[in-house]
Amino acid sequence: MSQHEAVHWPRWFWPRSVYIHIPFCVHRCCYCDFAVVTGAEQLIAAYLDALEREMTLWLAEPIDVETIYLGGGTPSLLSPAALRRLLELVRRFFRYEPELVEYTLEANPSDINEEKLQLLAAFGVNRLSLGAQSFQPEALRFLERFHDAATICRAVAMAQRYCATVSLDLIFAYPGQTLAAWQEDLRQAVALGVQHLSTYNLTIEPKTALWARVQRGQVRPCEEETERALYACTIEYLESLGWQHYEISNFALPGYVSRHNMVYWAGEAYFGFGLGAARYVAGTRSSNTRSLRLYVQLLQQGILPIAESETLSPVLRAAETAALQLRRRQGVHRTSYREQTGYDLDALLGPILQRHLARGWLEDDGRSVRLSREGIFFADLVCADCLSVVPDEQTSSLPKAQACATP
Ligand code: SF4
Repeated sequence: MSQHEAVHWPRWFWPRSVYIHIPFCVHRCCYCDFAVVTGAEQLIAAYLDALEREMTLWLAEPIDVETIYLGGGTPSLLSPAALRRLLELVRRFFRYEPELVEYTLEANPSDINEEKLQLLAAFGVNRLSLGAQSFQPEALRFLERFHDAATICRAVAMAQRYCATVSLDLIFAYPGQTLAAWQEDLRQAVALGVQHLSTYNLTIEPKTALWARVQRGQVRPCEEETERALYACTIEYLESLGWQHYEISNFALPGYVSRHNMVYWAGEAYFGFGLGAARYVAGTRSSNTRSLRLYVQLLQQGILPIAESETLSPVLRAAETAALQLRRRQGVHRTSYREQTGYDLDALLGPILQRHLARGWLEDDGRSVRLSREGIFFADLVCADCLSVVPDEQTSSLPKAQACATP
């Protein structure tokens, strides 16, 4: 499809956003199940070659985009020369307006320096997402992150000189965490003057080192009740300071909602490139292999390294759109939903919505349906119920945020 034709397609069909995955990390954190490789820095040049081939195979000509997200892994691990090459690749394949684009790089606080920030700014990167995770030494030790609170503060101060938006990722509900420790994390994050916070509760993913420790009885996961109290305190504290809770895990000061995040939660289209990267293009969801060797090999042979692909049926797309949009605090707007999916929200999901409205988990003002304050705690149940209207033979693999700190 040419760029000329593409501009006429709706946002759910043709992407205005791109995610690029940089899978290199110095160490695999105990809770991480992302597509990452460790101790493989010698492969960065070959990886960037492969990335270039992948973009060439997908894109016959440069594409206009409004949001760009360089995530991982640890993109900030790249040397200035490798980072420059990545930024040049992006500029070659994607057209963006420097004043309008939301251009994010995910970074480890220890990797940030003036040289890299100057380079990022020169290419229009205007948003830095720092994987802080916590300010508490014992939490950082448990999560196997090798920076300290002082390094986070230094990185934020430096980033604020070059980027219009600085975001921090924080993790809560790790074993043994107290409410006081979490409140202190939130207080310190806000005090740094960042504009965006992503707060993720620690989930124990199968096959991770943390999962093995839980299986062996060496670690006891956080109680559900504690987890709920920590989450409730997050919402109360940040909202009391004027922060907008715009999505289950995301908070922003007014004017700083992440447009890239919102593409995922609106059920809109996005490109994805790199190891394990997912994309949703022209109604088809697909994702790449998570094997670095295979990813590079296939691209050397001129073959796209797609591991899974699924073209969504209209009803699956409609159910998924509702499940995703309910994660947003603005919920599902009936008129926009009908325009986007072709389905009437109440005709498709009426009994499910009624059930959760009766429980008090949803609110309905006639125009939109959204999670209530209580319903936020049961978002996963409500969203799963929305998908239950889809016949069994059709599967759903709702997109996850493709970012490093989403445990
Ligand atoms: S959590 Fe982030 S830094 Fe840690 S291994 Fe995973 S991708 Fe790398």
